[in-house]
Amino acid sequence: MKVPLLDLKAQYRSIKAEIDSVVADVFTSQMFINGEKVTECEREVAAYSNCQFAIGVSSGTDALIISLMAENIGQGSEVITTPYSFFASVGSIVRLGAQPVFVDIDPETYTIDTSQIEEKITDKTKAIIPVHLYGQMSDMDPIVCLAEKHDLTIIEDAAQTIGAEDGGMRAGSVGRYGCFSFFPSKNLGAAGDAGMVLTNDPDKADALVSLRNHGEQKKYYHDLVGGNFRLDALQAAVITVKLSYLDGWTKARQDNAYRYNRLFSDAGLTDKEWIKTPVEKTERHIYNQYIIRANRRDQLCEYLKEKEIGHDIYYPVPLHLQKCFAFLGYCEGDFPQSERAARETLALPVYPELSTDQQDYVVSTIAEFYKKS
Ligand SMILES: *Cc1c(COP(=O)(O)O)cnc(C)c1O
Repeated sequence: MKVPLLDLKAQYRSIKAEIDSVVADVFTSQMFINGEKVTECEREVAAYSNCQFAIGVSSGTDALIISLMAENIGQGSEVITTPYSFFASVGSIVRLGAQPVFVDIDPETYTIDTSQIEEKITDKTKAIIPVHLYGQMSDMDPIVCLAEKHDLTIIEDAAQTIGAEDGGMRAGSVGRYGCFSFFPSKNLGAAGDAGMVLTNDPDKADALVSLRNHGEQKKYYHDLVGGNFRLDALQAAVITVKLSYLDGWTKARQDNAYRYNRLFSDAGLTDKEWIKTPVEKTERHIYNQYIIRANRRDQLCEYLKEKEIGHDIYYPVPLHLQKCFAFLGYCEGDFPQSERAARETLALPVYPELSTDQQDYVVSTIAEFYKKS
């Protein structure tokens, strides 16, 4: 049996008529930039996330970039984040000339270890980017306290967590900025690259709208230097249709995750500590990824590949050890939990359309791997 890590074709089959129809609408209108589809999408995503403003942008990476730009973060500024994330969380800081300052992760949630943040704050620190990894939010209360105490801006990297919730707050609505990605493999995926920034600050919302369009205030008058960070109407139309299915898909992902937890435990794999299933601390975890820690992870991956079971390693090299960030001066051993996660974890298929047969096969194959060796 073949089990892909993600099956976007199955998702498309289930909503094909609706997607095709809105795509045709955009072509009929020939309005590809800005316009009603974009505004509607922004309104819906803002409402879904209990946030006042949402500004569509060209990608999750650009959502981070434009949030940093709206805070004038650049040369001479420090930004605190974790080294265990997708590249963009840190790449965006460096691209603006600012200095990323790393804090290790909590080994249970893979999000920033809030007990280690304060010691890294200096008079140059301007912002904290907590990364809500795999579908679970960072522990925001202590981060909000620290941000207030030291006058720092919070930019949530919520690329993997649309609809996640903790303490009654939705991901992306807690900080001054919340950044979403609609990359196709995220829980709410566009038909290409797309992203969005959330904020509750009306002045910052205005600044973001201007910055995404070359810093234009009114046509051909520029008070700021921005860029072309706009969201396409086509992407907006697709995202709006898919948003109405998101809660159902999230429920299916959660059901799959809980079923894995049960199956792994029933198979005796967790008792023997061959694998460790995810720890859920967020009230609403949306399982963008189902991540396990595994003994002999690399051999297990080889075995899964042989058995045609999709899997991936997010992320094999922590960012402080990336060649392009060598100039920051970090070395192996600096962030032991991030390094350990990079060595021990892997993602298994958890997408909504995954069948119980496929899931049983994944678990029995993993059990086979450990029991025969
Ligand atoms: C996907 C992702 C991004 C970047 O989003 P793009 O839309 O691919 O630019 C940023 N941060 C995290 C944690 C992500 O998973």
